[in-house]
Amino acid sequence: MLCPLTIVLPALIWLSTPPEPTLAASPELARLREDVFHLASPDFEGRRGEGGRAAGDFLIDRLQGLGLEPAFEGRFDQEFTAGGLIGRNIAARLPGTDPERSGSWLILSAHYDHLGIRGGQVYPGADDNATAVAMVLEVARCLLAGPDRPSRGILFVFFDLEEEGLLGSQHFVREPPVPLEQIDLFLTADMLGRSLAGICEDMLFVMGSEHSPEVRPWITEAAAGLPLDVGIVGADLLVIDRSDYGPFRWNEVPFLFFSTGENPVYHTPDDVPETIDYSKLTAATTLIERFVRRAGSVTSLPEWDAERTPWIEEAEAIGQVLRKLLEHKEELRIPGPQRLMMQGMVGRIEQWVEDGSLTASQRSSMVRIAQIVLFTVL
Ligand SMILES: [Zn+2]
Repeated sequence: MLCPLTIVLPALIWLSTPPEPTLAASPELARLREDVFHLASPDFEGRRGEGGRAAGDFLIDRLQGLGLEPAFEGRFDQEFTAGGLIGRNIAARLPGTDPERSGSWLILSAHYDHLGIRGGQVYPGADDNATAVAMVLEVARCLLAGPDRPSRGILFVFFDLEEEGLLGSQHFVREPPVPLEQIDLFLTADMLGRSLAGICEDMLFVMGSEHSPEVRPWITEAAAGLPLDVGIVGADLLVIDRSDYGPFRWNEVPFLFFSTGENPVYHTPDDVPETIDYSKLTAATTLIERFVRRAGSVTSLPEWDAERTPWIEEAEAIGQVLRKLLEHKEELRIPGPQRLMMQGMVGRIEQWVEDGSLTASQRSSMVRIAQIVLFTVL
C-alpha cells in the first residue's frame, strides 16, 4: 500500500516548480558552420551562373522549410536582368504579430553570389558572403523558434549579383515587394567570419548609424557579454558603397551594415570555409539576432537623419584600429610617411577622446586619413 505522503509529496513538488518557460532559441555555431561549408562547397561553383542558380534553389528550400511566406507575390525569387546578366534575388517574409504595424517592415539581408570560377579556379567565397547568408538563415530560425515573434514584419533577403556592382539590391529597390516607404530599417551584412587586415581579431564593424544615431545604444546593449569589440563607425569611411546598403542609402532608408572587414584572402580562391572563425561568426549572429528582436518590436524606429552629427565613440574605434595597424606595421609593410601620418592621427584622437567631444571638421580630417589608410594598407 502506498503511504499517503508519497502521493502528496510529488504533488507539492510539482506545484512549487512551475513548468520550464519556452526559451528563445539562440544562434548555434554548428548550424552556422554547416551552412557556410555547404554554401562554399565546390558544388555551387563560387555561386555564379549554374552554381548561383543551385545556391538560390538551396536558399528557397531553406526558407520554405522554416515555414516563411514567399516575399514576391507568391514567389520566393525575383528574376531580373542587369548589365547583360540574369540575376535572381531570393526573399521571404515573416509578418508582424501586430496588425497595427502591418505597414512597417525591417529587412535583414546578405548577398549570396560570389565570383564563380576564374582561370579554372573556384572562388568559394566562404567569408564573402556565405558567413552572412548563414547568419540570416540562423536569425530567421531563432525568430521562428522563439515565443516572442516581432510585432513588425521582417523580410529576409538574399541579393544576387552584388559582386557586379550591387545589381540585385538596385533592382530590389526599383521593384520592392512592399512599398519602399514601408521599409523602416535595412540591415545587411557582408563578411562576418574573419578580421580586418587579418589582425583585428575581435572587431566587428557596424556602419550606417550616422543616419540613425538612436540605434547606437541598441547595438551596444545587443553586444553585452559577447566576445566582440564592436566599432560603430560611419559608412562614409568606405568612400564608395561597398555592399547592398548602397541603393537603400540613396533612397534615405535608415540602414546598418555589419562586417568584420576586409582581410588578406578577400576575393581570392583561399577564402575557404576551413579558415573561418566560427566563434566570431556565432557572436556576430547573436548580436544581430538580439538587435533584430529589439528593432522588430520597438514602438517606433528612427527616421533618416541627414546631419551625421559626430560621435566620440567613432573616434575611439578608429584610434583603436590605427593603433592595431601600427603594431603590425612591418608585416603590413606600411610605408614610413604613412606611419607618421597614422601616429599623428592617433595622438589627435587621444586628445579628442580625453576632451570627450568631436567637431564636424575634426571628424572629416579623421575620416580622410582613415580612408587613405584603408585604401593603401588593405
Ligand atoms: Zn561581399
